[in-house]
Amino acid sequence: MEKRVLLLKFGELFLKGKNRREFLKLLKNNIMLKLKDFKCNLMETQGRLIICDYSLGDEDEIVKNVQMMFGLIGVAIAQEIDTSLENIEDEVLKFDLSGVETFKVETKRADKSFPMNSMELDKHLGGVVLGKHPNLKVDLYHPDVTIFVELRVNGKAYVYRDLLPCAGGLPLGSAGKGLLLLSGGIDSPVAGYLMSKRGLALEAVHFHSYPYTSIQAKEKVIELANLISKYCGNIKLHIISFTEIQEQIHKNCDEEYMITIMRRIMMRIAERLCKANGCGAIVTGESLGQVASQTMQSMTVTNAVVDLPVFRPVIAFDKEEIMDIARKIGTYETSILPYEDCCTVFLPKNPVIKPTIKRAEFLERNLDIDRLVENALNNEEILEIKNY
Ligand code: ATP
Ligand code: MG
Repeated sequence: MEKRVLLLKFGELFLKGKNRREFLKLLKNNIMLKLKDFKCNLMETQGRLIICDYSLGDEDEIVKNVQMMFGLIGVAIAQEIDTSLENIEDEVLKFDLSGVETFKVETKRADKSFPMNSMELDKHLGGVVLGKHPNLKVDLYHPDVTIFVELRVNGKAYVYRDLLPCAGGLPLGSAGKGLLLLSGGIDSPVAGYLMSKRGLALEAVHFHSYPYTSIQAKEKVIELANLISKYCGNIKLHIISFTEIQEQIHKNCDEEYMITIMRRIMMRIAERLCKANGCGAIVTGESLGQVASQTMQSMTVTNAVVDLPVFRPVIAFDKEEIMDIARKIGTYETSILPYEDCCTVFLPKNPVIKPTIKRAEFLERNLDIDRLVENALNNEEILEIKNY
């Protein structure tokens, strides 16, 4: 019996030791969730995952979805055949090799009962291909096309040519859950994507200053959450009004410390949300030196109000590098829509570049921070972004 399947490859490196079963289980759950709208089956044979029994018309979409999954490094469209030399020969002859100059055959033989070893099989099948395409040349190092043949112990062989790249990283959720501070800018969606790549599931919080910021600014953030959730999984998005807090800071604190104190209050609220929702870390899109509030001193002062780790995956990236990732994951065009962020409302002319904890604490005495935080949390709006 011959059938067309998708062969999934995961980063074996991460799958050693006792984490292996756990990771694989998560990965399988994630795949099933991601493909819930398609009719298909997921099978595991000897450390390989295989998607089968789908309708051919869905194949492109299924492949696209799988390519967005963390924990997988590649997917191949393969023919599954009953293992026999004749069947394998037939299969390798089916590839359209027009326009191809060089090729090689690469065999993996898990089925040690097969009479030829993998090197013999490579050579033999190479000869078979050359018999049909005498103008081709074998190139073992930089071939235009590699034909892969895998012999499994279940009596099946898999033959395919292109391995399409997937998102890499670790299975979503394998590192726990974090809370992403999601603005409408370019950096924070990328930060969320990068942390999710390392296995972190996400919730997100967005602070708005309606009516100083527009409804569109909020909708933009919802759209960004939608876009990253295709990679990062379903996201609980907490939308918090920052208006009263900003007005109070504006009225009662030094202008140059406005952003510093805003960020400290954002962090306090974020920590409360983390504790209430099982998130073990805060994630931001800060990049060292990008603006006054992203100096080492500023980060020291904002970190000082929270006990949780603060992950800043783009800390060492240039804006251009962050923009490249934003384009790749499809958030860029939305991020550059020109709506105000709450950080740009009441923006001080000269924000402090080297704030101190002492001064921030002194200025904060003019605010009833506990009440402001409580109020903001009491009025939170929650959206479940389900796009995975
Ligand atoms: P971004 O492009 O992510 O908006 P930015 O370069 O505009 O970043 P800042 O405005 O200083 O930088 O924000 C730094 C980080 O603080 C953001 O990456 C984000 O994680 C968080 N942040 C800023 N504004 C908000 C907001 N309104 N709601 C939630 N988080 C925010
Ligand atoms: Mg911003």
